[in-house]
Amino acid sequence: MISLKSPREIEIIRRAAEILKQVFRDVKPAVVPGTTTEELDAIAEKTIRKAGGEPAFKGYRGFPKTACISVNEEVVHGIPGKRKLREGDVVSFDIGARVDGYYADSARTWPAGKVSADVARLIAAAKDSLLAGLDAYKPGARLGDLGEKIQKCIESQGFQVVRDYVGHGIGRSIHEEPAVPNYGKAGQGLRIQPGLVLAIEPMVTQGHYAVETLEDGWTVVTRDKKLASHYEDTIAFLETGFINLTGDE
Ligand code: MG
Ligand code: MG
Repeated sequence: MISLKSPREIEIIRRAAEILKQVFRDVKPAVVPGTTTEELDAIAEKTIRKAGGEPAFKGYRGFPKTACISVNEEVVHGIPGKRKLREGDVVSFDIGARVDGYYADSARTWPAGKVSADVARLIAAAKDSLLAGLDAYKPGARLGDLGEKIQKCIESQGFQVVRDYVGHGIGRSIHEEPAVPNYGKAGQGLRIQPGLVLAIEPMVTQGHYAVETLEDGWTVVTRDKKLASHYEDTIAFLETGFINLTGDE
């Protein structure tokens, strides 16, 4: 079932989104060689709780930590731990927060130290594709209109888009209907109605888009072990346009 949110509900989701923006401001400077992924996780949890929110992922289906931190060939759902970041690592940081029963969900990918121009392009492609998809939105648009733009933006740069994981509706649950693919065809898919709040989250691969899950039951990696990047925002669609609740200022 697809639930449309009232302005009051969107306002609560915005508060959760503001917490995630603060998390990014606090975590990003620590994404440097030598930091462990569990140190990044601890910063995130502290920021969320200090702001009066709760981590959305901790305990979700047994996930043990606050953030999903996925390094290099890890695409999503990496578990923070003792791994120390190294110069040139590609660090994707995915975080959710709950406030007064409503969720926001957002992800960023940052380099630890210096990366090559090609890797910087891979990182930028995830964000750029999301913005390209949003640019296709007008009242009456369908999910396929956005998906096609996201996919084209990624593939036109020689990268691929992950198929096995997609974006989602969000609100009273972290994952709601509908599924929001980062690929598709214009004119197809659900019509985006005012009040729909979606977490749109392109996952971009340097090589083939095929992924598999490691034995820890969580960490999703590219099968060819090439790098991946991920970018996610929580977006409220309105009569006249949209608000990117977790968007960069
Ligand atoms: Mg997320
Ligand atoms: Mg999500």
